[in-house]
Amino acid sequence: MASRKCSAKDFIFKEDIGHGSYSTVYKAYDKRNIKKIYAIKVCSKSHIIKEGKVKYVTIEKNTLNLLAKANHPGIVKLYYTFHDEQNLYFVLDFASGGELLSLLHKCGTFNENWSKHFTVQLIDTLSYIHSQGIIHRDLKPENVLLDKDGRLMVTDFGAALTTNMANKDSNEITSSSSFVGTAEYVSPELLLYNQCSYGSDIWALGCMIYQFFEGHPPFRGENELKTFEKIVALDYSWHNNKIKPKNETPPVVIDLVRRILIVDTRERLTLNMIKQNVWFNNINWDDKINIWKGIWQ
Ligand code: ATP
Repeated sequence: MASRKCSAKDFIFKEDIGHGSYSTVYKAYDKRNIKKIYAIKVCSKSHIIKEGKVKYVTIEKNTLNLLAKANHPGIVKLYYTFHDEQNLYFVLDFASGGELLSLLHKCGTFNENWSKHFTVQLIDTLSYIHSQGIIHRDLKPENVLLDKDGRLMVTDFGAALTTNMANKDSNEITSSSSFVGTAEYVSPELLLYNQCSYGSDIWALGCMIYQFFEGHPPFRGENELKTFEKIVALDYSWHNNKIKPKNETPPVVIDLVRRILIVDTRERLTLNMIKQNVWFNNINWDDKINIWKGIWQ
């Protein structure tokens, strides 16, 4: 984080680009460097207090501050925070490509190339997040943004949990946890035992890989309870969608997802195991330049 103090007067606010439950996000220019575009998330203090969201905003700020230090390309960067009488302000990287979910809705499904591109960037980002002792706990395509070249950026750390677990590549239960996250991506350990681990993010990753190929998450009931029942019963199947003809998902992907979506966290693949999977035989995980190429470059 830069040390200079900022205020809203340092920026030219343009159109709003989205709304959250306690925030509005604006596109904005830095008056001191007009070429630099940011997304500024403006959170109303009274609204945050009234809705009991102080905890989430604090977690989001602290986590983004911690993660901003390494400048990882897969995490939306927090440049400055400041506040005035009414609002809190988060000055963030502007993700001009919008949400990954919107792209998926537009495309229906992703082909294998795009699915692998996004999966590889997600794995590299999650490896970094976990290496810092952080579990995201609300990973889903809505919380993944894209830059202009189709590189992804994970956002929304309001549900994140910091642990002091020594082994960062283990799915062992690390913490008791009340329900956080989004029904379709929530892990069975949270539903069954109110517990979570790095493996809970890996579960969500498995749901997302499935969704890239099928166009919808693997577990979706008519209501949250039905969705939860499907998750703990591991009740999902492939090739349910009408957009895509049968058998287009490579068997290697089906097998990978099967080994991620395992109810027992001890049996679920860890990130390092996933990196060794044959689907990634052509990926050099140390070659960050290649991994972080944009898909539209
Ligand atoms: P909630 O807080 O209810 O979970 P949310 O996380 O979507 O919702 P925000 O983080 O305030 O809420 O984001 C609101 C919208 O602004 C989102 O739809 C997102 O697409 C967009 N947005 C958020 N951050 C950025 C960014 N850095 N660049 C571009 N768009 C962004």
